[in-house]
Amino acid sequence: MQGLRTIRSRLREAETRVGRAPNSVTLIAVSKTQPEDRVRAVLQDGQRVFGENRVQEAQSRWTPLREEVGGIDLHLIGPLQTNKARAAVELFGTIHTLDRPRLAETLARLAQERGASPEVFVQVNTGREVQKAGCPPEEADALVARSRELGLPVVGLMCIPPDGEDPVPHFRLLREIAGRNGLSGLSMGMSGDFEEAVAEGATHVRVGSAIFGARDVSAPPVATGA
Ligand SMILES: *Cc1c(COP(=O)(O)O)cnc(C)c1O
Repeated sequence: MQGLRTIRSRLREAETRVGRAPNSVTLIAVSKTQPEDRVRAVLQDGQRVFGENRVQEAQSRWTPLREEVGGIDLHLIGPLQTNKARAAVELFGTIHTLDRPRLAETLARLAQERGASPEVFVQVNTGREVQKAGCPPEEADALVARSRELGLPVVGLMCIPPDGEDPVPHFRLLREIAGRNGLSGLSMGMSGDFEEAVAEGATHVRVGSAIFGARDVSAPPVATGA
């Protein structure tokens, strides 16, 4: 798929420009709400790392696809309700949206029962937007500490800068909080700003529309037949 090839080459250029090794940044192809033919086209081109923002949608899409195609690595990038945590722990290799102590406790308990845990990123609401998930920046240190104490494999921090603002100060704030907590993972950068995110140290970029094309927000989520 052309979109994927273009983004891969822009990503390699962005890495090279700032002296980072080619392919050192993980490209998460955000497949939420995309039609299956586009997802299959991207699979055909070898992409195996995908991001989804809803647990149920991800389950219905990827449970069958995974039987067909090996090596799929799923990342949850949308807010996680506690009552969906069990399904999330079973489905996703990485959860980018740990944002509160109670969710950390639930994830830790489920991981213990299962004998395996997804890797987690703590989501920080760097823009302090009321409508957005993520812990406030001043609570991030405590949440990282608590999550580690519970035994969760915390690998980094994630943010979604406010729409229409320069994302760079947000990327820098995230990097600063990660640095003082000894975290190397930075999940930041989307279709419109992933190159800037790479320049600021992103280790994981989450790119949807620039790979797959615009999402059809008017379409019903999934046809259920009948
Ligand atoms: C949808 C989404 C993305 C991808 O957005 P694009 O602008 O389509 O690249 C990235 N991160 C999160 C958290 C998202 O919800």
